[in-house]
Amino acid sequence: MRIGFGYDVHRLVAGRELWLGGVRIEHELGLLGHSDADVAIHALCDALLGAACLRDIGYHFPDTDPRYRGIDSRKLLYEVMRLLGEKGYRLGNCDITICAERPKINPHIPAMQRELAECMACTPDQVSIKATTTERLGFTGREQGIAAHAVALIF
Ligand code: MG
Repeated sequence: MRIGFGYDVHRLVAGRELWLGGVRIEHELGLLGHSDADVAIHALCDALLGAACLRDIGYHFPDTDPRYRGIDSRKLLYEVMRLLGEKGYRLGNCDITICAERPKINPHIPAMQRELAECMACTPDQVSIKATTTERLGFTGREQGIAAHAVALIF
């Protein structure tokens, strides 16, 4: 068994869709990035890559590459799982924490679990997603951005 950790941040801006955990959430701000900027999926990809000692998401999908412009991050997760599969690894479970002051994440968690489980060909029970505010402290508390932490166990 091997464990990996991932962390990511994206800035919240006007005029962008908000995608978190493969789910589009209605909000007046969205995350800025070269891809769809799904910070939860990016943290998860880094946790999975880290567990397999396969570098990081920026190494495999550079933000200078026009192929990844505006890409659905679920495709990146699918590709990460393919890379793990090539090394003979399977997912045990993963656990993601999303740090955001707003919008409320909790109502969307079951849909995120289903989306991510489908990408990773596993069950929603293997994909834990949690949400927290940071008590109005720091850049997440000021709603300047959203952060996500993830751990993954593979075998
Ligand atoms: Mg990112």
